[in-house]
Amino acid sequence: MVFYRKYRPQKIEELDNEKIRETFYRIFANENYPHAFLFSGPKGLGKTSAARIIAKVVNCERKAKRTTKSKLSKNQVEPCSKCNQCVSIANGTNIDVLEIDAASNRGIDEIRDLREKIKLSPASARKKVYIIDEVHMLTTEAFNALLKTLEEPPNHALFVLCTTEPHKILQTITSRCFQINFKKATREELIRAFERIAKVEKIKIDKEALEAIAGLSDGSFRDGVKILEEILSLSLGKKITKETVEKKHSITNINLQILEFINAFETQDIKSGLNLIGKIADSGVDLKFFAQAFIEKLHKLLLGKVGINDEKEETSLSMSELKELMELFNRAYLETRYSVIVQLPFEMAIINWGEREMSNDKQETEDRIKPEQTVGKKTEPKKAIEHQQPRLLGKNEAFWGEVIERMKGHNHTIAGVLRGANLHDMEKKMVTIETGYKFHKEKLSELKTLQALEEVCSQIAGKKMAVSIILKQKGR
Ligand SMILES: [Zn+2]
Repeated sequence: MVFYRKYRPQKIEELDNEKIRETFYRIFANENYPHAFLFSGPKGLGKTSAARIIAKVVNCERKAKRTTKSKLSKNQVEPCSKCNQCVSIANGTNIDVLEIDAASNRGIDEIRDLREKIKLSPASARKKVYIIDEVHMLTTEAFNALLKTLEEPPNHALFVLCTTEPHKILQTITSRCFQINFKKATREELIRAFERIAKVEKIKIDKEALEAIAGLSDGSFRDGVKILEEILSLSLGKKITKETVEKKHSITNINLQILEFINAFETQDIKSGLNLIGKIADSGVDLKFFAQAFIEKLHKLLLGKVGINDEKEETSLSMSELKELMELFNRAYLETRYSVIVQLPFEMAIINWGEREMSNDKQETEDRIKPEQTVGKKTEPKKAIEHQQPRLLGKNEAFWGEVIERMKGHNHTIAGVLRGANLHDMEKKMVTIETGYKFHKEKLSELKTLQALEEVCSQIAGKKMAVSIILKQKGR
């Protein structure tokens, strides 16, 4: 079993987020706790685990014996994890604790079912607990049904709504819930979680290594525990040190670089592609190894395109583009054997790819093939134009940077496309974005993207902004 599941916190004390632990102890020390909770925050912070703990806290049989009106101690609040209720909730077989994933079919059937059955008393538990994951994904119809239920909940019902996007939830719902915000974990909280696992698994790991893993986890327990598990499999029973973590990290790094590399092709950013090859060569990573991993990734994406692979990541590269890239890099891979400069075949492959798009300046391309002109020193024609016409000054530059940053959260590919585009103009109510490629203009002009851009621009500007995409005139 993977660590993240195996070491799901089972009681309040095991929750790694201190603020949430304290909140739970405080709320459930009284008998009149809220009947609806809203858990918000990024993925991987244990919202569902916390919801299941609540289900146990209110249903634990041990607690039934208590008749006190005074506040319960932390120990008394804690579920026993041994009684029938606790055990069946932990293994997901308790028929009074229902988990609904609103993301899977937008919850229509489940909420209808919920409305019909909620009036019925629980079968064996004290409280019927409804855990609704990704609640913002519910359809309007399902939302309204939920609202009706929340307005007049029967005494035996308790709701835990979870969401990664609380702003999408109607005020009428949030106002009826006790809201708990799950923030990214601190370094100490992450280390606490890792130590809890390391202790049980008898993993030999030093404090420095734990700190290094915490640094790589980006505040997510799930990610951190995953990294710990991967490193453990690499360590072959030896004590895990900071060096082990770093070794693992460099492999992770290659995966990130591959994504960056693919992004360069998606956005036709030849310069970035060349820069990256130079960077990898300089860092001492075997380029053949990198190329191999890159080709494997393309292969997966290609299979994903035809639907025989469950590769989740999407690419804006077409099937023929993927094929072309695979051919180019396969050839480059074979040519490295005869190449004086090891990165040359890969640079050639990138340039060949680039030539498909920019055929207007042959001389430029030929210049760049010469090996003595090393990577990264040449200026892309597009960039040169920018330098001649410095339109972006101060505030606008910051604005544009922020737009790209926020669009990352929306879609990485689009953010990449934006990086290759310019903020052409910003008037009172209109942001004009300029791109050099027709394909990019089409991409950015897609309704969904345009709406997201307008939303982001309006947010940053603090007022309603419209967005227009224009194509840069050739030769300007
Ligand atoms: Zn119990």
